[in-house]
Amino acid sequence: MEKRKLIIVGSGPAAYTAAIYAARANLNPLVYEGFFSGTAGGQLMTTTDVENYPGFPEGIMGPDLMIRFRAQAVRFHTTVLTEDVTAVDLSSHPFKVTANKTSAEADALIIATGATAKRLDIEGAGDGEFWQKGVSACAVCDGAAPLFRNKPLFVIGGGDSACEEAIFLTKFGSKVFLVHRRDKLRASKIMAERAMNHPKVEILWDSVVTKVEGSDVVGSVTIQNVHTKSEEKREAGGLFFATGFIPNVGFLNGQLELESNNYIKVTPGTTNTSVEGVFAAGDVQDHEWRQAVTAAGSGCMAALSAERWLSAQGLIE
Ligand code: NAP
Repeated sequence: MEKRKLIIVGSGPAAYTAAIYAARANLNPLVYEGFFSGTAGGQLMTTTDVENYPGFPEGIMGPDLMIRFRAQAVRFHTTVLTEDVTAVDLSSHPFKVTANKTSAEADALIIATGATAKRLDIEGAGDGEFWQKGVSACAVCDGAAPLFRNKPLFVIGGGDSACEEAIFLTKFGSKVFLVHRRDKLRASKIMAERAMNHPKVEILWDSVVTKVEGSDVVGSVTIQNVHTKSEEKREAGGLFFATGFIPNVGFLNGQLELESNNYIKVTPGTTNTSVEGVFAAGDVQDHEWRQAVTAAGSGCMAALSAERWLSAQGLIE
């Protein structure tokens, strides 16, 4: 079985930044970038223009940005395997990593498998329908696109993300409707108040979206009242899911301590997990900021921490 000083699981900004730093520190990292899981490249692969990543004043397409991240890691001789990690064994050292076709051992591990935005199963909102043609799970990434300008926009959810995204979208849409399935927001008081008091935000309480229709792009959504079941079709330029994220931790099989919301628990201000030698970076350990640039920053922290830890253990010179 191949043995590495460092294995990185994941392929978003956190994973590739960790790989760039680790490779340049001669840790000869192996990255499992995923394949069937559909997460290779992370959430930026499912977005269009990225206008808030520093260094790209004209913006850059999400997938193009990730191609650059990957190329930079490969340039410094990172090995990338396009496989999903299906299991890890953290009970003994070196750690064991099992993927679809290969297995490997590692002195240190960085988990950077990200989180997947929940997509709701709504008629018309799926792949091959209006997904990415007006339906998005990331207002911050996609909201400024021309197709959303001066149109009524709909956000589903009642948490901080939904409120934040609704307020963000007021910069672009003619009006923003927050569609929430209950009569009370889950969001923090301050965020809820900001959304409720915003002149361009209207909350549709006790409501769900049941259908998305349009021609080339989204043209309307059907809103259903959850109590009366009455439905109303409304003109719409876009529909945004803000119904939470699911951290990709299944393959860890409970071997790392998690927060109550299933994100990997790290010592605050570090990327240290509950197992020495295992570090977590990016959205899999961050339910709050969740930006490409913050993920990249924590990937850098994880690589530097892994290097220091390996050195302290006498596993590298
Ligand atoms: P969240 O708090 O889990 O809220 C998800 C929302 O989506 C809830 O209102 C939920 O409704 C709704 N929802 C879930 N599944 C649904 C479904 N199938 N159909 C319709 N609605 C559905 O997620 P989040 O807003 O992404 O926040 C996650 C964490 O990040 C929180 O800790 C939050 O405080 C933090 N965060 C903070 C900020 C900030 O402080 N600026 C910004 C963003 C996020 P119910 O309420 O009925 O369950």
